[in-house]
Amino acid sequence: MQKYKIVLLSGDGIGPEISEISKKILKKISKKHNFEIEIIEKLFGGIAYEKYRNPAPEETIDQCKKSDAVLLACVGDPKYDSLERELRPESGLLKLRSSLNLFANIRPVKIRKSLVDSSTLKKEIVENVDLIVVRELISGIYFGKPRGNITNTKIPKAFNTMVYDSSEIERITEIAIKIANQRNKRICSVDKSNVLEVSQLWRDTVLKVTSKDKNICLSNMYVDNAAMQLIKDPVQFDVILTSNLFGDILSDLAAMLTGSIGMLPSASLNNNGPGVFEPVHGSAPDIAGKNIANPIAMLLSASMMLKIGLNENEAAKSLENAVDRVLSKGFRTADLNDGSSEVLSCSEIGNKILDEI
Ligand code: NAD
Repeated sequence: MQKYKIVLLSGDGIGPEISEISKKILKKISKKHNFEIEIIEKLFGGIAYEKYRNPAPEETIDQCKKSDAVLLACVGDPKYDSLERELRPESGLLKLRSSLNLFANIRPVKIRKSLVDSSTLKKEIVENVDLIVVRELISGIYFGKPRGNITNTKIPKAFNTMVYDSSEIERITEIAIKIANQRNKRICSVDKSNVLEVSQLWRDTVLKVTSKDKNICLSNMYVDNAAMQLIKDPVQFDVILTSNLFGDILSDLAAMLTGSIGMLPSASLNNNGPGVFEPVHGSAPDIAGKNIANPIAMLLSASMMLKIGLNENEAAKSLENAVDRVLSKGFRTADLNDGSSEVLSCSEIGNKILDEI
């Protein structure tokens, strides 16, 4: 029997609530599909800082490197905002991504048929939304140096550096091409080349790489226009290829097309080695501990893990189908409440999905 070792990082805020149900579901699904899944839980984020004064302890990172895949819930809490930057949970996240060389973040944005009325946008705008954001994840302004604060001036200053080299742009473009070739073969590269040199390099490099594949239809868009187009006419997009910062912002925006950020999964990958599968949302401190969070983004991330990370396609599909069946029966968490459905708690909707497997 095939055996897998995965690391589960429950993290902070709503993380433990949505992880609990994910564990139960992975156990059941592995039994049903005849494989074994060992779930190793490790501390990461604020909770790891509390114990080790380090949001990404070496032991956690090492265990992740040795695993077949990593399932991560979310990290962060306002109470850590005053810590030195490298001690904050979000810095742990950046360290995990760079330690595993996870340069490609894949964020599918697909409206589930039963949720077309849950979006804040009109049904006719969102009903056929099916796009993928391919975001560069370990370079750009989140990692660029120099960075810092200048305090010895009259007025305090702070600065960051948005930097890419062409090899970093080439490898993420290759990933976008691969994904686009499995879809409608259209890539929209999003940048700000009208004002930023780094974006001009991005645009030139994307053009150079994509022109080698005659099947790919490339378009370019400035990020401000892309934000507007995602709201105005999201169906025009197939694959959106963009940098770390722009991808971070645009994918949260795109999340609302699907009804809630609680619906959006993601996969962070490299060319070899384990990937990290995680919901797009953060730790939602405003609802943490209330058992009202939506666990579906985490469950769809687990489904991506089964498919991309473990090659268990049938199991992945069966989890996705279970989610769809529960939604089509009219069950919702509070974030998706359209006034006409039955609102369940996090654990209740989790158990409904479990029952469908
Ligand atoms: P957030 O995504 O945590 O929350 C934004 C809003 O969406 C909140 O109103 C929240 O209640 C709601 N929300 C998020 N996930 C939900 C879910 N599953 N079900 C129902 N509602 C949900 O973003 P934020 O408030 O900007 O950040 C909170 C903390 O999370 C911060 O510390 C931030 O740095 C961190 N963060 C972590 C990650 C990550 O772990 N990958 C990503 C983004 C933000």
